[in-house]
Amino acid sequence: MAILLIAEMREGEVRHATFPAVTAAKQLAELLGTEFDILLLGKGAQAGAERLKDLGAANVLWSEAEAVAEYTAEAHAQAAADLVNEKGYTAVLAAATTTGKDLMPRLAGLLDAGMVSDAIGFEKGDEGIVYLRPMYAGNAIARVVIDTPIHCLTVRETAFDAATPGAGSAAVAEAPVNVDAGGLKAKFVEYQLTKSERPELTEAKVVVSAGRGVKDAEGVKLIEQLADALGAALGASRAVVDEGLLPNDLQVGQTGKIVAPDLYIACGISGAIQHVAGMKDAKVIVAINKDEEAPIFEVADYGLVDDLFKAVPKLIEKVQAARAS
Ligand SMILES: Cc1cc2nc3c(=O)[nH]c(=O)nc-3n(C[C@H](O)[C@H](O)[C@H](O)COP(=O)(O)OP(=O)(O)OC[C@H]3O[C@@H](n4cnc5c(N)ncnc54)[C@H](O)[C@@H]3O)c2cc1C
Repeated sequence: MAILLIAEMREGEVRHATFPAVTAAKQLAELLGTEFDILLLGKGAQAGAERLKDLGAANVLWSEAEAVAEYTAEAHAQAAADLVNEKGYTAVLAAATTTGKDLMPRLAGLLDAGMVSDAIGFEKGDEGIVYLRPMYAGNAIARVVIDTPIHCLTVRETAFDAATPGAGSAAVAEAPVNVDAGGLKAKFVEYQLTKSERPELTEAKVVVSAGRGVKDAEGVKLIEQLADALGAALGASRAVVDEGLLPNDLQVGQTGKIVAPDLYIACGISGAIQHVAGMKDAKVIVAINKDEEAPIFEVADYGLVDDLFKAVPKLIEKVQAARAS
């Protein structure tokens, strides 16, 4: 059983989510007593491959061919399927990012392969590899076996530590990509990325999130000030997003982003299971809520029962003073 990890690029850079996915590939390879390769497609892939070569993979394959220079599920899935068929990989994985979730089901379809999404671990069972994945907002862990010859999976990046360099040097080579750019049904036109001075939500070390307790746009501003004082990313509960106070891409939770920063500060968030599913893996959780019975305190390492409109300005002052000294 040989393993292929499909790495991810955006605007010429290897995305952070690739590194925890490399750890997942390594763990799966160790369990199966085999090696893993990495495939990197897109503009800048050759330079990106150099960054990935000492993370423990046997081979790092890259291509900047016209058809795959920018991401489309159609082209990347076709290129990956050709490679899987040519090299005989029997497990293919990618990070469970928006791109990974877009790509892998299509690839699984092309390969007639069973698929597990959002895997958080692997075990060896009587029927082969058992994939673990959360269900019901993380309240149950499903144990899934795939019974097709090829396995496809996405892996949750917060469940694996980011791979660090130092584990040998992989052979780096150009991947054969024979996808006909002219024959594709979908064409990449442009990225319209939300520009923000703040760190990206899923990659930030500190996240400050606003819940319905912030009430209105003025309340959101206060939470933004705290985020900026800490150099943190801004997050939100669905209640805040539904009220149009913050954009959808800042939503944390089951139907939003899954985050696992070093520090997560929940301001005016009750702690519904759907929200907690997106942040419970943060190393330290701080909750500010005026209701001492709020369920968020059950997952918080530090809880402050207070009105956020009184507590947050004081916190901002303290953080700014500490940073200035
Ligand atoms: C299928 C499904 C998927 C969902 N997915 C998500 C998801 O991905 N993410 C998500 O967040 N939710 C999700 N939800 C919604 C979720 O169930 C909750 O409704 C939502 O998380 C509540 O947001 P909230 O905590 O901000 O608001 P509330 O539950 O209304 O809580 C507000 C909190 O603020 C506190 N508060 C009020 N005023 C103050 C003040 N002045 N100072 C301090 N505290 C104050 C209150 O005590 C209260 O605890 C989903 C729901 C469903 C059914």
